[in-house]
Amino acid sequence: MTNKFIIALDQGTTSSRAVVVNIKGEIIAIEQQEIEQIFPESGWVEHCPIAILETQLSTLKKVIKKAEIHPKEIVGIGITNQRETTVVWNKNTGKPIYNAIVWQDKRTANSCENLKKKGLENHIKQTTGLVIDSYFSATKINWILENVENAREEAEKGKLLFGTIDTWLLWNLTDKKIHATDYSNASRTMLFDIKNLCWDEKILTALTIPKSMLPKVNPSSFHFGNYKIDGFKIPITGIAGDQQAALFGQTCFKKGEAKNTYGTGCFMLMNTGNDIQFSKSGLLTTIAWGIDNKIFYALEGSVFIAGAAIQWLRDGLKIISSAEESEIFASEVEGENPVIVVPAFAGLGAPYWDMYARGAIFGLTRDTGKNHLIKATLQSLAYQTKDLLIAMQNDAETKLTSLKVDGGASNNDLLMQFQSDILDCIVERPKITETTVLGAAYLAGIYVGLWSKEDILSFRKIDKEFSPTFSSEKREKLYKKWLKAVERSKDWID
Ligand code: ADP
Repeated sequence: MTNKFIIALDQGTTSSRAVVVNIKGEIIAIEQQEIEQIFPESGWVEHCPIAILETQLSTLKKVIKKAEIHPKEIVGIGITNQRETTVVWNKNTGKPIYNAIVWQDKRTANSCENLKKKGLENHIKQTTGLVIDSYFSATKINWILENVENAREEAEKGKLLFGTIDTWLLWNLTDKKIHATDYSNASRTMLFDIKNLCWDEKILTALTIPKSMLPKVNPSSFHFGNYKIDGFKIPITGIAGDQQAALFGQTCFKKGEAKNTYGTGCFMLMNTGNDIQFSKSGLLTTIAWGIDNKIFYALEGSVFIAGAAIQWLRDGLKIISSAEESEIFASEVEGENPVIVVPAFAGLGAPYWDMYARGAIFGLTRDTGKNHLIKATLQSLAYQTKDLLIAMQNDAETKLTSLKVDGGASNNDLLMQFQSDILDCIVERPKITETTVLGAAYLAGIYVGLWSKEDILSFRKIDKEFSPTFSSEKREKLYKKWLKAVERSKDWID
């Protein structure tokens, strides 16, 4: 019997990665290459689409060699990607007409204000599930059409194509044949009607984007096309945006299951099943994935400053020399920590949405030392996560019983224990925290019949489970203090 493998590509903001996954769901080889970050002006962030493609193809080829597998043993390819990042290219030459405008790029803030002035806020929320923001692809496409010479005429003649990074990769991997994306990526463009599953004419008209530029939208587990290696045709059978892929990789298959990624920021997503739940608390509604002829939706909330606050302790205050050290210092604080840090360095996101708030430290006394400050900064990640989770539970009208975690700071046991204590819910850290790339592999493997969802659930091994130890009085008292601190840090900038 020949061996069977899935290859998953993870095109992220800082690097392109490729992994080989065996039939037991184990990652047997990884290759990674960084990509250059281009900052042409303040607030602008770009990537070179050719560099994205080349690094991704190079890691793909290298990982096959590294794993010592034969192309005929690869039964499917999955793709996951940085979301919202926008590429526009010429259909005939295959050349991008401008650099990729990255999700972080703020150049279209004015264009977003114009959409609000046109009174489109409610329509956009109801059809796309999103709030109007420069983060999403829609205004970035409009910017390229307005600012690149001849772009608008060419687009109107049907000569240009738009894609998020998955679409750009897919088109190139399929020899410039397939122009498509999946539901999860489409739902991040701010152009896609997540209920009727089609591009929204009203938003396209408002931003004068010709429909001919847009990709076909398919389920996330689907035969998108084939990639040829050494004469062998390998089907590309899974695509999902990175956060949705991580939700799938964490096996949050059922309604009410949620994951939180603790990276530079935090990204929390909750599977809300086949129903669209609109948020009353400033969370986003998005498509989690399309699979087995069904659409699964998710609520999404993010914290701007999470691991970044630990970086501030290390690089700004220089009171720790590595992120890991934060755990050692914090564990030296005995009893309750009287200090609270609100890391609103860039304002407050969901559920507060106050861009005028700034960071603050509360509860200082003569005996406050650096360990208190370090512990309070770590705890702020857990408090912010609780803020999001409360909003999510209210919107989805369900109570979470366990939170699945990943990302760099999820390796901090002290933080994870406090997270469980303050949430009053089990926190579950898997052995393999490469959940994003695994999610793409799973979507691809399910389509080709390599695995069932049950197989995938059986692959999941828990590294550590954290259970709540606080009494409800203690939990409520501490959380009240946090809320009081947040109130006082609001509206600081005039
Ligand atoms: P990203 O994908 O956003 O770059 P990662 O998942 O690689 O993030 O996580 C890196 C972030 O996690 C950094 O901001 C770092 O400060 C934080 N971090 C990493 N390890 C720890 C730790 N043991 N304790 C606390 N924070 C940590």
